[in-house]
Formats: sequence, C-alpha cells, structure tokens
Amino acid sequence: MNFEQIKQLDQAYVLQTYGRNDVAIDHGKGATLWDTEGKEYIDFTSGIGVCSLGYGNEAWAKAIYDQAMKLGHISNLFYTEPYAVLASKLVPASGMAAAFFGNSGAEANEGMIKTARKYSFDKYGQGRATIITLKNSFHGRTITTLKATGQDHFHEFFYPFTEGFRYADANDMESLLSQSGDDVCAVMMELIQGEGGVNPLQKDYVQAVAKLCAEKDWLLLIDEVQTGIGRTGSLFAFQQFDIQPDVVSFAKGIAGGLPFGGFLTNEKCRNVLKAGDHGSTFGGNPMASAAASVVMDAMTPAFLREVKEKGEYLRAGIAALNSPYVSGIRGMGLMVGVGVQGMTHKELKDKLMAEGLLCLTAGKDTLRLLPPLVITKEEIDKGLAVMAKIMK
Ligand SMILES: *Cc1c(COP(=O)(O)O)cnc(C)c1O
Repeated sequence: MNFEQIKQLDQAYVLQTYGRNDVAIDHGKGATLWDTEGKEYIDFTSGIGVCSLGYGNEAWAKAIYDQAMKLGHISNLFYTEPYAVLASKLVPASGMAAAFFGNSGAEANEGMIKTARKYSFDKYGQGRATIITLKNSFHGRTITTLKATGQDHFHEFFYPFTEGFRYADANDMESLLSQSGDDVCAVMMELIQGEGGVNPLQKDYVQAVAKLCAEKDWLLLIDEVQTGIGRTGSLFAFQQFDIQPDVVSFAKGIAGGLPFGGFLTNEKCRNVLKAGDHGSTFGGNPMASAAASVVMDAMTPAFLREVKEKGEYLRAGIAALNSPYVSGIRGMGLMVGVGVQGMTHKELKDKLMAEGLLCLTAGKDTLRLLPPLVITKEEIDKGLAVMAKIMK
C-alpha cells in the first residue's frame, strides 16, 4: 500500500487520538528508517525510546521467533523459563530484590502505586495513602496515572479521578515539605522528566528526597519508564544519582519493541503484594520476556559507556551548530532535550522530518531526541547534518 491508501484506511477506521506525522514508516535497519514511499530517515526517536537495539536486530528477532515456535504464551499460573531468567538478570543488575512484569509504563506505575498503598496499609492501616508527585511530571494515561501526572491539563474530562495525589515543585524541598502530612505514603518521580521537557532533577535534591522518604517511612517510587534500561548510560538512571529506590518502574526500552513494562521492589517491599493482590494476563509473556533478555544481555559496561559517549557526541554536535534556534541542551546519555526558540518545537520537528531526520517533541518548547542505543556515529553525523541544514 502507498501512503495515501494507508492514511485513508486509518482515518476511516481508527480513532483519531494521535496527532500523527504525515508519514507511514515501513521498515528499518539500525537507526535508519524508510517510509512507504522509499524515503530514508535517520531515527532520533526509537519509537518513543522503545527500540533500544534499533531495527532489524537479528538476535532480538531470533529470540522472539524461537520462543514463538516453542511456547508463544502460557498463563502466569505456570512457571516459565523466560520470565524467571529475565528477572534474574534485572534484579542483581539493579540492586533490587524482586520483579513484577506487566505490559506498559502506565501499568508498571499502577503496580508501584498499589505497592506503596498496600505497604502503608499493612503497617499503618487506613488513611495513609497519599502519594506526592512532581509538577510537570508524566506517569501514564490510565485514570490513576493521569491523576499522578503533575500537569493540570491531564486532569480534565475523565472524572472522577483516583484520589490521593498531591504535587510539589521539582528541585524544591520546601515545596515537597509543604505537601507532607500524616496521610502520605510515598513520593513518586522521574529523575529526568521526559514528556515534561527532558528536565533532569538535581542530584542533591533527589538525595534529599530519598533521605526524607527514609526518615518518614514513605516509599521512594522512581518512574524509569523512559530513563531506564540503558537510556541514560547506566542500566537505571537512579544509579547515577546514588540512591536506591524502594520501587522502580520500567517499560519503554526493556523489550526492544515488544509491549513490556514492570517494576522492581527492594527487600522491604518484596512481600507486600501477595498471591491474588496483583497480576496480568499478558505480563511477562514468554516471547516478550525472551526479547527483553536479549536487550538485557546487550547492557554490558562497554555498551553503557558507549551510550554515554554517543550522547556527549550528539550534544556537542548540536552545541557546535551555534544555532539561533537553540536555547539550551539538556539530558543524560541518549536522552537529549533541545530547547527551541524562534519557531515552535513542532515546526522544527516537521522541518527536520522533511529533510530526513525524525525527532520527538516534549513540554512546551523542547525537541526531544531518543535515538536507538545502537545508533552509530555515522548515523549521528547524518542527523547532525540535517540539523545544520535547517537550524544554522
Ligand atoms: C511513557 C511514559 C509512561 C507511560 O508509559 P505507557 O507505556 O505509554 O503506558 C509513564 N511514565 C513515563 C516517565 C513515561 O515516559
């Protein structure tokens, strides 16, 4: 099918809930994509931070194929090797104690929220269920995770929302303390606010929050749906903030493109959710777990060092453009935010796309770059050349 045929079908039969780009992507290799009309693009999106091993990765595809031929699915009422093996890779590498697997970021965060509330209920009884989150955060699109998201415009239309969330300003301990109270059971935050505009939190602030949580027996819930699984140059971003969460969620990049999300708890929280308290039909599906194991095997110290180096290379390349359209460059590893001035972030994204570079937007004025972690320097250079053409 050509682009016009696909677009016509989509507009006739699909709920139009996305502001889609006027392109249908057809196939890819590494960090390069082709659309249905044969046009080539350098990909600085990897889905939205999902295709960590790029496109057409053979080890990844083979693991899925082999598992599909062996056992594509079985319920979580049985033990399966891929689930157990994946957990045995994630847990020691993160310094956590135990894993739960679901299918998406929002679902992972729901699990964290349930863990926090039940931990508190078991120990302190009712009335201690409030979770403090940060303004400008993003935690998902279920009714509960929308309310956990600290942006007013996500709290419209879908009433009634789940109760029990309050919001503090990021990087501001006074603001956090002003939201504290006997009803609080946890603080939940991203370490780099992704959808909010690629805003990294300050390390001393994050450490102060961790200390406060420990003092008050609030659970520290870290949402690493976007920052996790190598994106920032360490398996989890929290490892670069020198903190240890009580619960950490992950999703986007974990299975390299198959739907997957989950959370890890520390020793203190590993027995909070018991048989019957939580579950998922598809969660930790054998094929998805096999794919995630391939991604985890890729996360060697050398690979993670390269992610950091490539991120620095990309940021330096953008800085060297001396572009009048750039107001600032933020981020860690291959999670990069470019502040845009002189045109909107969407205008810039569209211009870059027309010249063969795919980027994301975030917040009000940020161009967000989340390339596949396997992107080559040559591919980064091609992307930077497109940026030079449009942004100089
Ligand atoms: C994308 C994202 C989510 C939601 O993930 P879904 O898989 O879309 O449900 C939650 N938290 C953060 C930080 C995210 O970036």
